[in-house]
Amino acid sequence: MSKNISRVCILSSAVVLGALVIFAIILAATLGGEEAASGADILDIVPLIDGHNDLPFNLRTLNHNFLKNFTFEDLKNDPVWWNCSTCFTDLKRLLAGKLGAQFWVAYVPCKSQYKDAVEQTLEQIDVIKRLIQKYPDHLQLVTTADGIWEAFRKKKIGSLIGVEGGHSIDSRLAVLRQMYDLGVRYLTLTHACNTPWARASPVDNVSLTSDLNKEHHGGLTEFGKTVVLEMNRLGMLVDLSHVSHQTMIDAISITKSPVIFSHSSAYALCNHHRNVHDDVLVMTAKNGGVVMVNFYSEFVQCNTTRNATVDDVIAHINHIRKVAGVNHVGIGSDYDGVDSMPVGLEDVSKYPHLFERLAQTNEPRWSTEDLKKLAGLNLIRVFKEVELVRDKLAKTMHEPHHEDLLPVKDLGSNTDCRTNLNATS
Ligand SMILES: [Zn+2]
Ligand SMILES: [Zn+2]
Repeated sequence: MSKNISRVCILSSAVVLGALVIFAIILAATLGGEEAASGADILDIVPLIDGHNDLPFNLRTLNHNFLKNFTFEDLKNDPVWWNCSTCFTDLKRLLAGKLGAQFWVAYVPCKSQYKDAVEQTLEQIDVIKRLIQKYPDHLQLVTTADGIWEAFRKKKIGSLIGVEGGHSIDSRLAVLRQMYDLGVRYLTLTHACNTPWARASPVDNVSLTSDLNKEHHGGLTEFGKTVVLEMNRLGMLVDLSHVSHQTMIDAISITKSPVIFSHSSAYALCNHHRNVHDDVLVMTAKNGGVVMVNFYSEFVQCNTTRNATVDDVIAHINHIRKVAGVNHVGIGSDYDGVDSMPVGLEDVSKYPHLFERLAQTNEPRWSTEDLKKLAGLNLIRVFKEVELVRDKLAKTMHEPHHEDLLPVKDLGSNTDCRTNLNATS
């Protein structure tokens, strides 16, 4: 009897011990997995939204916008694209990079200003749409904040359109409105050139002796403020990357909606005029906007004696978090718009690496919720708010500015390509 009891005891102890061992194994696996869950696996839970990719401009310069022989699935076997210094993007790498949504950029160079900037921009919007149509299993056109989630749930890359540079609307609100109707959801107020109504960041470069620097070091003109208000009314995101310091201040002061910086880093860490000063970071936080950090090596570390690394990008993310707060920082890589990316972020497959490293950072500590905000929730919040303001303005705005025209005198001598409506013949 007692022999049986002891045998039962031994057996039960073995069962308990076995269960404990299994529990320990499961616990260890869970804990091991938790680290991943707070890093790269975050990108399976919320969409990673990148504010800026210039692939469409590469399509223009390398392919003349022909998509017939463009093997976006995997560009490894295309010698032109694979050896191009500004090409970092194809579907294979986007999928490896767990990208949830992308603002594809319709950009045309400043030299088209006062000439055919509008037509060229339409061609870029067209090529973005054709690319999306060519890859329906992986890309989906998105024009709303909810649409980002919708595409994400279908495991497609939500594809949004941004226009980079106010010269693309040729100072005409009618063009701005029609671009909105085509699906454009942000306008960067300038690229590297001033428009008749907004100053670009090179005016802040005191070492420049070009004509740009001789112009007024200001921000928005009255018409420029009208452009911002019209964007608020339409529900288009106001993008302040590339604009001068004063234009940032003027735009944030007048806008009724939160603003974005689609691809800019922190001036305090690298004093390039394309980066955002701390006073503007504070203003952006008050405005409710988001600064989406640019990865470009030259913007994330000004010390040219060494290569930029993923840790330089993390330093910018952490600085913006420190000054503006974790609700106001996002990702705006600038892949395909530049020719040098940091070690560790060599192409679009590397976003998970960034999130893994952030999850391992102790100072500051990035919680799962923080990482979700950085990945995409901050941008979605801003987008939603822009839509809400649009809806409110539709009900309350009694004196819309939407019939305003640029005063002819603001064009200066840049009138050669314009028809003079007052001419008699
Ligand atoms: Zn840019
Ligand atoms: Zn760009």
